[in-house]
Amino acid sequence: MSGAAAKSDKALRLAVVGAGPAGLAAAVAAADAGVTATVIDAGSSAGGQFYRQPAARLRARAPRRLHHSWRTWRGLKSRFDRHVAAGRIRLLADHHVWIAERVAAGYRLHALVGPEQRRSVAVDADALLLATGAYERVLPFPGWTLPGVVTAGGAQAMLKGSVVLPGREVVVAGTGPLLLPVAAGLADAGAQVKALIESTSRRALARLVPTLAAHPDKLAEAAGYGARLAAHRIAVKYGHAVIAAHGEERVEAVTVAALDAAGRVRPGSETRITCDSLAIGHGLLPHLDLALTLGARTEGDSVPAVWVDSEQRTSVPGLWAAGETTGIGGAALALVEGEIAGRSIAAWSQGPQRAWQDEDHARSPAWTHAEQKRRRLGAFFAAVDAVYSPPAAWTERVAADTVVCRCEEVEAGAIRGALEEYGATDLRTVKLLTRAGMGWCQGRVCGPAVSGLVAEHCGGRPKAAASVTAQRPFARPVPLGVLAGLDQPGPGPAGHEEESNNE
Ligand SMILES: Cc1cc2nc3c(=O)[nH]c(=O)nc-3n(C[C@H](O)[C@H](O)[C@H](O)COP(=O)(O)OP(=O)(O)OC[C@H]3O[C@@H](n4cnc5c(N)ncnc54)[C@H](O)[C@@H]3O)c2cc1C
Repeated sequence: MSGAAAKSDKALRLAVVGAGPAGLAAAVAAADAGVTATVIDAGSSAGGQFYRQPAARLRARAPRRLHHSWRTWRGLKSRFDRHVAAGRIRLLADHHVWIAERVAAGYRLHALVGPEQRRSVAVDADALLLATGAYERVLPFPGWTLPGVVTAGGAQAMLKGSVVLPGREVVVAGTGPLLLPVAAGLADAGAQVKALIESTSRRALARLVPTLAAHPDKLAEAAGYGARLAAHRIAVKYGHAVIAAHGEERVEAVTVAALDAAGRVRPGSETRITCDSLAIGHGLLPHLDLALTLGARTEGDSVPAVWVDSEQRTSVPGLWAAGETTGIGGAALALVEGEIAGRSIAAWSQGPQRAWQDEDHARSPAWTHAEQKRRRLGAFFAAVDAVYSPPAAWTERVAADTVVCRCEEVEAGAIRGALEEYGATDLRTVKLLTRAGMGWCQGRVCGPAVSGLVAEHCGGRPKAAASVTAQRPFARPVPLGVLAGLDQPGPGPAGHEEESNNE
């Protein structure tokens, strides 16, 4: 994209994909400086994962009780709402962006509208910010497809978004700091949390003590979760994993086992816990679809993320990224990255060579403050990330008849067959031979699992990345009628006030 759009007389049109902490903070910061923004989100209201709101029709009486950092959210939301009321920000909720294109004047986004997703509209912009967040890594094990087995974030989304529990007797399992708010939130809401099963060992977690000591706010947050778990008498088992879920119609029990240093089950350590639901998650992976389609550079082998410079600019001109699409780091980091991106876009709107940090140095210490905060939080999460990791040797516990790709119902035995009998050595060949990753979710769910099985066969460490999902043209499934409609006359003069209907 050339800088011409930025220098024209018209106000710069910014499009933001994602109304989570990063996208909201960016839109507010840009609007504060006079930029008009269209914020697009697949959800029915602003908030993203961390500040997910109950649907209005539920009339939840005390949504703040489901949330951490409620004051921060209220402050951000009221600034956002003021800009919406003044016409500087427009929110397109229930809009699922399925493709982003570079066009002569900047960017064009195509979004499927509403729960039906049968109608597509186009939004044009001079500058684009991707704040699409992350999704959960799911690793298969015997019984994981039983009803009642949900992801940890899914259980939390049910609670925050629909004010329902996944079950009455819940086991929370997997790995990562997300398990703490999930277990505490479910218990606060009335579920009996039978156990929290964390596969990272207590010894590995002890390495975090100096990091926590250097971040008193995070230490207090962790202590707060610890106190809530203790108040609910939730047993926490470190260095353990759920190795099977059992049940006929739905999950009725899980088998939990202790892991040795190599991540293998300690023989004889298996115990059974009865439950009616299991909330399980193995960490988060950045959403990369739109960024890859636009040709943005990524970094990181095991968990690729969008590369950004000090102003949250990607490798593609006119394209910024902030929040967990640039790496997993929590809501506070997403907020400050969003603010930096918004201020950077506002500076760029004055001319393509302009940057916020250059302008701000002369006037106020805002840049320095934001930059230091980002660095501090980034270092904290890098330390956290280095400690938590999915249990090694998990692929050994995946039985031949365990479904790995749910969309195409491909079992582990078929994937191993493609590797052992047909000599496949890469993900693409496995996909072509077995159809794993070819279904509705296009490998988003099974990607890390197939990747792990390939790595197991090829003698490498199971890769954590969702590499089978790498690059695909569309960020989500699109009806053929919508694709056909794209050949029809386009959306008229560029402008984010002019949506086009490609039905
Ligand atoms: C399931 C889940 C649960 C979490 N729970 C916690 C928690 O309890 N505590 C905690 O500290 N952290 C939690 N996190 C991490 C926390 O959500 C993040 O730190 C924070 O929300 C990141 O902010 P963000 O703005 O980068 O992304 P998000 O808050 O994830 O927002 C991204 C937004 O982009 C939208 N989006 C993505 N792709 C598209 C598209 N193609 N079209 C339209 N919209 C799109 C999504 O609908 C979403 O609203 C959770 C993360 C996940 C994935």
